[in-house]
Amino acid sequence: MPDIIIVGSGAAGTAAALALARLGIRPIMLDVGHSDPGAGPKVEGNLYDYRKQHDTFDLFIGAGFQGVSDVLKDEVGVAKLNAPNMAFITQDAETLSPVETIDFDPIQSFARGGLGNGWGAGLYRFTDDDLAGFPLHAADLAPHFDVLTGEIGISGADDDLAPYFGATAGLLPPLKLSHNAEKVYAGYRRKRETLARRGLVLGRPRLGVLSVAKDGRAPCDYSNTEFWQEAPYLYTPPVTLKRLIAAGKVDYRPGLLVQSWTETAEGVTVHASDIRTGQPAAFTGGALLLAAGAIGTTKIVLASQRDYETALPLLENPAVQIPFVLPTSIGRALDTHVFGLTQLNLIWESDAFGCRTQGSFLELTSPMRAEFFGRFPLSARANLGLLRDLLPAMLLLQLFFPGSAQPPARLSLKEGGVLRIAGHPNTVEINRLGGLLAALRSLGLWTLPMLIQKPVTGHAIHYASTLPMSEAPARYQCDPTGKLAGARHVYVADSAGFSALPAKNMSFGMMANAMRIATVAAQG
Ligand SMILES: Cc1cc2nc3c(=O)[nH]c(=O)nc-3n(C[C@H](O)[C@H](O)[C@H](O)COP(=O)(O)OP(=O)(O)OC[C@H]3O[C@@H](n4cnc5c(N)ncnc54)[C@H](O)[C@@H]3O)c2cc1C
Repeated sequence: MPDIIIVGSGAAGTAAALALARLGIRPIMLDVGHSDPGAGPKVEGNLYDYRKQHDTFDLFIGAGFQGVSDVLKDEVGVAKLNAPNMAFITQDAETLSPVETIDFDPIQSFARGGLGNGWGAGLYRFTDDDLAGFPLHAADLAPHFDVLTGEIGISGADDDLAPYFGATAGLLPPLKLSHNAEKVYAGYRRKRETLARRGLVLGRPRLGVLSVAKDGRAPCDYSNTEFWQEAPYLYTPPVTLKRLIAAGKVDYRPGLLVQSWTETAEGVTVHASDIRTGQPAAFTGGALLLAAGAIGTTKIVLASQRDYETALPLLENPAVQIPFVLPTSIGRALDTHVFGLTQLNLIWESDAFGCRTQGSFLELTSPMRAEFFGRFPLSARANLGLLRDLLPAMLLLQLFFPGSAQPPARLSLKEGGVLRIAGHPNTVEINRLGGLLAALRSLGLWTLPMLIQKPVTGHAIHYASTLPMSEAPARYQCDPTGKLAGARHVYVADSAGFSALPAKNMSFGMMANAMRIATVAAQG
């Protein structure tokens, strides 16, 4: 059988490779593939013990001042991606794929494993509700979700969120909750009927974070280090990719920037260049699976058509970040032995917005206090004092709205290879959050509307739907198998092919769909 070529080693590309490996097919994977050069020191043990014994400048800030690059450039960035040990994730993105933007800040990765190297590993199955508008059903993805659940090791629980997060088969036990999250969850369990009438459901997250040892990987050690370095218990796509490469199940070719493809009746030739020498390289196969991230995949599609006119729709989840304080926790010591990211999830069926939203309650024990310092309304000295007292009592809610909650951005390619993305400012109206805030107040969670942040469009990092799947695909759409209209051998395996973007961390759905598409492509 002719080779199957995958472009990209992120969550989508790796899941596609996994599906092929299970069929006994060894794909060629073309990738830029920057890998972790070990820029910063690595914490052994708990972050707070480490801080007592070591200078943390190199861990938090770094010789190149990456940790405070937003302040230096007067930009709003994605804090985790500025950590010195995470810098490789977005390394060279501005030169490898320059973008002119209006009201949209795209985050692109050219790393081995892509953006998933820095993700929070919130991995949620798509349900039929999530797939409204897609030409497929949750049952089409179910076998792939099952395989991925076993591969990744996902912790979670069979609780009130199961109808929203899908089957619980194969889940590992949930992680230990932090003190504040435990309080909120206990309150929720007492009031769940009343809250359900207000459209609010709470429960445990589905996290690609090991609560027990699995396949030689140690379980979560509650060290709060997740923000600063790779954590062996937190799944990232390279976990699978390394295993497949070591077993000879994928022919991985890093150092290559793919530009375009050309098709013949028999197959497809992919045109790339060596990122160090600029030398051109070509690879011919029977099928091409594009998994370069929704933006990267769309660029390759437009470049292959030499289309410098068309502006394609690009969806993203509008989001808000709401800091909460539990007054009953003020004055207690910071809970330092916790998982430093998502503790609980909520679903809010919002009448005010006319849609379902999904939120993650995050602990703030892993990021730097400076992240929140500037957001408080007092003087620098008073803000610091306030934070010292409030931090042990805080949780942050990150709330996602569906992609349809605001008009899509428009993505086009200019001659010369520069992308153009014209988006919209984050239009979520804070004053419509009143019902949610009142319901959460009944759980002891207090906030002030002036503290609510609206991340710039692009910073949810859920990009989708430039080349949507449809039963009757038009130009720049895909058929239900992911095959690009007008192409014979080219499939879109990442979220560029999504027909819609539900209010959900979407990577797990994308991975299962990439496996489904790879399986179809393998059948010719
Ligand atoms: C801080 C953070 C937290 C997140 N948390 C979550 C979460 O909890 N849950 C969730 O679902 N999602 C989360 N996400 C989003 C998630 O990481 C992404 O949706 C997902 O990783 C995208 O995967 P991908 O395979 O589509 O593309 P990418 O990860 O963007 O990978 C693209 C791949 O393609 C390669 N590539 C690109 N262009 C080319 C080219 N021209 N030639 C050759 N190779 C190319 C790159 O090298 C890379 O390997 C988070 C993201 C971040 C940054």
